[in-house]
Amino acid sequence: MHEVLAIRGLRRAFVQGGATIEVLRGVDLSVARGEIVALLGPSGSGKSTLLQAAGLLEGGWTGSIRIEGADASGLGEAERTAFRRDRLGFVYQFHHLLPDFSALENVMLPQLVAGRPGAEARARAIALLEGLGLGARLGHRPAQLSGGEQQRVAVARGLANRPALVLADEPTGNLDEDTAEAVLAAFVGLAREEGAAALVATHNRALAARMDRVVTLDHGRIRDCPQLSRPR
Ligand code: ADP
Ligand code: MG
Repeated sequence: MHEVLAIRGLRRAFVQGGATIEVLRGVDLSVARGEIVALLGPSGSGKSTLLQAAGLLEGGWTGSIRIEGADASGLGEAERTAFRRDRLGFVYQFHHLLPDFSALENVMLPQLVAGRPGAEARARAIALLEGLGLGARLGHRPAQLSGGEQQRVAVARGLANRPALVLADEPTGNLDEDTAEAVLAAFVGLAREEGAAALVATHNRALAARMDRVVTLDHGRIRDCPQLSRPR
């Protein structure tokens, strides 16, 4: 099975003040194992809505979402939680790190929740953080880190449980241009090293062009953007 994520005919509408807004109008999107896909689209085009559905964080959609072959609509609440924990990783625009815990602990925590032994979780967290250039920041709390460093910790946390697929919603949207580029390069490099697939929402075309493939959300549907995708 080559597809980590297979979305077919995904529709999602919101009813607001009596009016219905159709945000996703039949999204078809596949992400192959280990493939890194940029999801471009202007603000309001539905990128977050799509990532939340794909991440099994929100219901209310129709159509089909399969992750590693498993039908998302067939999962119960407990199964969905386990699925998110064991197979998916998340990176958000704002780091959402736990403020009272160190960088090291923030990367250990999801592993401990997944049942990994402490020593193993610690060794992996250190390796990930060192790989992202944070070897000297292990004991720092989020408030003691720069924005770029915070996002690197969030990247390490998102990959900590060796997810098959990482969903990233404008992971560098809150950073200045140079920092954004460095963090994104580190993220993509680590995902490749780990063999993780990723779907990365961004509105930065230059950053998008660094990924394996670029798609855009256009009027509620996915369009391929071969002119922006890397030659293969
Ligand atoms: P993007 O991430 O591309 O900026 P979003 O997915 O956040 O876009 O939003 C797409 C559209 O859906 C917007 O018009 C937004 O107002 C609407 N929307 C998103 N979430 C909700 C919600 N919970 N209730 C009502 N409308 C929503
Ligand atoms: Mg968004």
